[in-house]
Amino acid sequence: MVGLDTEVLQRWVLALPIVFEGNLERLNGLDTQAGDGDHGTTILRGVQAAARATESLPSPVLAKGLLETAGSAFRRAAGGASGPLFACIFTELAKMIENNCLSGVGLAQGLENAALLIHRLGKAEIGDRTLLDALFPAAQAAKSAPSNLGAALDAAMDAAEKGVAATATMVARKGRARFVNAGEVHSPDAGATSIELILRTLNEVYRS
Ligand code: ADP
Ligand code: MG
Repeated sequence: MVGLDTEVLQRWVLALPIVFEGNLERLNGLDTQAGDGDHGTTILRGVQAAARATESLPSPVLAKGLLETAGSAFRRAAGGASGPLFACIFTELAKMIENNCLSGVGLAQGLENAALLIHRLGKAEIGDRTLLDALFPAAQAAKSAPSNLGAALDAAMDAAEKGVAATATMVARKGRARFVNAGEVHSPDAGATSIELILRTLNEVYRS
C-alpha cells in the first residue's frame, strides 16, 4: 500500500479508545506525579468521541472528512489544556490527504505541521517536558524516510519512544506540571506517552 487509506485510518480511529482504555490508569498515574492526574481520562474521552463521530458519518466516508471529524470531535470532548493540542494531530494530517490517502510524505509533513501548530498554540519549546518532546522528533524521523510509508511509521514510533524516555529527566515549564518540584519527578511526561501510543497504534493498524 502506498498510503494510509480511509479503511486504515478508520481502523486507527476505532482502535484508539481500546488502546487508551488499556492505558487509562498508567496515564492518569503519570499525570498524578507531575500534574492533576486526569490525562488518561481526558484523552480517553477525546478518542471515544472521535470514534463515535466517525462511525456516524454518512457513507461513502472519505479519508479527509474522517480525520477532520475525528479532530473536531476530540477537541470538543477532551477539553483541558491538552484537548485542543492533541486535536491538531488529526486536523493537520487531514490537510495532507491527497487522492483519499495519506502518503509517507503527507504523514511526515502533517506530523511536523501539527508539532509547529501545537508549539504556536501552547508556547512550549522542545525540552519543556511536553507532548512536543515526542511529536517533534517523531515528525523529523518520519521526514528522513518519507518515500517508504512503513519505514516512516517505524522511524516516527522509535523517535517518539526515545522522546518519551528523555522527558523523564526534563523539568516541566508548561502546563500544570510546572508547579511540581522537578527533583521529585522521575517518570516520563503523560502527554508525550500518549503521542507514542497514538503513533504505535497507527503503525499496528497499518501492518495488520
Ligand atoms: P491538563 O493540563 O489540562 O490537566 P492533560 O492532563 O490532559 O491536561 O494533559 C497534560 C499533558 O499536556 C502534559 O503531560 C503535556 O504533555 C501536555 N501539555 C500541557 N501543556 C502543554 C503546552 N503548553 N504545550 C504542549 N503540550 C502541553
Ligand atoms: Mg492533567
